[in-house]
Amino acid sequence: MTARHVLVLNCGSSSVKYQLLDMADHTRLAVGLVERIGEAAPRLTHTPADGARRERALAAPDHESALKALAAELAADGLGFDSPHLAAVGHRVVHGGRAFTRPTVVDDAVLAEIERLVPVAPLHNPANLGGIRVARAMNPGLPQVAVFDTAFHTTMPEHAARYAIDVATADAHRIRRYGFHGTSHAYVSRRTAELLGKEPSEVNVIVLHLGNGASASAVAGGRCVETSMGLTPLEGLVMGTRSGDIDPGVVFHLARVAGLSVDEADTLLNRRSGLVGLCGDNDMREIVRRMDEGDDAARLAFAIYTHRLRKYLGAYTAVLGHVDAVAFTAGVGENSAPVRRAAVAGLEVLGLAVDEELNVERASTARLISPQYARVAVAVVPTDEELEIATQTYALVTAANG
Ligand code: ADP
Repeated sequence: MTARHVLVLNCGSSSVKYQLLDMADHTRLAVGLVERIGEAAPRLTHTPADGARRERALAAPDHESALKALAAELAADGLGFDSPHLAAVGHRVVHGGRAFTRPTVVDDAVLAEIERLVPVAPLHNPANLGGIRVARAMNPGLPQVAVFDTAFHTTMPEHAARYAIDVATADAHRIRRYGFHGTSHAYVSRRTAELLGKEPSEVNVIVLHLGNGASASAVAGGRCVETSMGLTPLEGLVMGTRSGDIDPGVVFHLARVAGLSVDEADTLLNRRSGLVGLCGDNDMREIVRRMDEGDDAARLAFAIYTHRLRKYLGAYTAVLGHVDAVAFTAGVGENSAPVRRAAVAGLEVLGLAVDEELNVERASTARLISPQYARVAVAVVPTDEELEIATQTYALVTAANG
């Protein structure tokens, strides 16, 4: 019997998201979430294949108890960590630095390397590591695979990955542009090629991943050559709560003139900026609704957000030289017709346009929204990071087993 199930774990600081996939046909055998770990009233929500959702309160002071609870939930359906069908666990790991350019089977050396990267990803890597350690202890014989958010971007050329700062300081502290959301950019750029009926190696794609966090990438023939996030996810596009690109001098000004501490400036730029900072809302539906009612703050927030998108489309067209497609993905990219319309408005010179009828159509499948005549295809491609993690994990363990 071939083991064909892959459990995907995404451990955040206070939550664990999980999905169990059957790689024979990509069906979801279970989808769940443990939230508020270590906080008051943790909860587990578990939906098996039949759709009958189960929800319960649990005692989850840490990731270990959260993973044990989700394992028990899976075991109740005969799909626990000891299931003979389970081929591997795929873990989302946010920061793989320069060392990890592809998914990697976890051993002690790999764990130590992920640990070494904690200073560049202090919020994420510790939780990811915790999840791997607990899952490993629960079934030591089961392969654990780390899939890194940064891996897809490790193909960026040095002139795109380096900041123009003192080289010795940069190297001593590993300061460079790593990029994030790589699993999504990889999946969406490949799906976009499929939608065009081409191989990934045959097309150049700009991917706009617009969720609460947002990033753009330029993908040439399947390889990432530029992305908008940097050392941290703060750089680049305007996001739900993050400023994106900003003059670093603003930070010095906040410290010297406004009297903010480093931590306060960090909180301001990461949590109280972006759409929330501009208009008090970070849900694009609400911003568009307010804008339609003539709300000036919402209108300005939308204008700044979409102006930044147009700047990046122009810049990445220049980086790629030739663009076959622009793909919109994640919560805003997949659902907001007004954002897509405004993002390409006035960019006919770059061959970009949307067909308004196609743009406003609601659908959950990958589709083209550009007019027949457009030189560049504009696509809406739902992202699926869990499927991508499971696919990469399964490919690795089946290759390893010959
Ligand atoms: P995350 O980065 O948390 O994974 P998502 O990709 O789920 O984010 O995107 C969440 C965002 O998507 C919300 O903050 C909201 O702005 C936007 N969004 C979700 N649904 C819609 C919709 N129907 N129309 C416009 N925007 C939407």
